[in-house]
Amino acid sequence: MKLLTFHKNGKLTLGVKTNAGIIDVEDALNVFPENGVFTDIMDMIEGGKGSVRRLEQFVASLDKRGAGYVKQESDITFGPAITNPSKIICVGLNYKKHADETKLPYPKEPILFNKYNNALTGHLNEVTIPRTTERLDFEVELGIVIGKTGKNIEPKDALDYVFGYCTTNDLSARDTQKKSSQWMLGKTSDGFAPVGPYLVTKDEIDNPNALQLKTTYNGEVRQNSNTADMVFSCEEIISYISTYMTLEPGDLIMTGTPEGVIIGRPIEERDYIEPGDTVTVEVEKLGALTNTFVADEE
Ligand code: MG
Repeated sequence: MKLLTFHKNGKLTLGVKTNAGIIDVEDALNVFPENGVFTDIMDMIEGGKGSVRRLEQFVASLDKRGAGYVKQESDITFGPAITNPSKIICVGLNYKKHADETKLPYPKEPILFNKYNNALTGHLNEVTIPRTTERLDFEVELGIVIGKTGKNIEPKDALDYVFGYCTTNDLSARDTQKKSSQWMLGKTSDGFAPVGPYLVTKDEIDNPNALQLKTTYNGEVRQNSNTADMVFSCEEIISYISTYMTLEPGDLIMTGTPEGVIIGRPIEERDYIEPGDTVTVEVEKLGALTNTFVADEE
């Protein structure tokens, strides 16, 4: 199932992508009341397999022809596919060819950093370029959303703890990222974590370690790789993080980016993101996530 959020009456409500269009779950429930079907994506994740099954059955039961609760993507304003995670944990330098392009050795253990929820934004939303940077870069990444609480998880069990997967863009201000020994300033400005368009439940993804990823920058393909090039697999990342902290339902892990980012180019070809630019990041089976950029004029 492909879940999403969209703006409605001042909040982010749940949608489900179907062949007929986007089901507005709240509107559908108003017509066909049903217990145990959630309208908030975080409640849905917290509810685990049972809530996924109930929503699937509910959506399957609906007549989708011409119903008012079926919307087209062009009629909605997307929110981030995950709205209120207790943690956003990112993995740095997790692709071999990306480490090669930045001339850094492959990490012996995962390099972890974080973003905050102010960074979350959705498909087709504008991202403001902060005044503090002149070197804004893109990073296509596979996002993992945790589905159940876990600590000290064994790699062989790690995917049991996954709710689903999403396309993410780890927007990075290269100048402020390197300003101190901590990357935080360059990583979590408002809108620096586009997520979506969809959160795809894990039953649709056989192997998260074999998915194509792509970035298109103003129409030109810049990143084009596969999660098979990751230094640490999805299972290893989940297991490693869970030895340091308890993972909770809704937590988002951004698993690192492959080669092709702007900072990986020769200095004279580093065309950092400017107002008016468009970046589309895409992970196979998860959807293409597009954002445009504007100047900070506040
Ligand atoms: Mg990254």
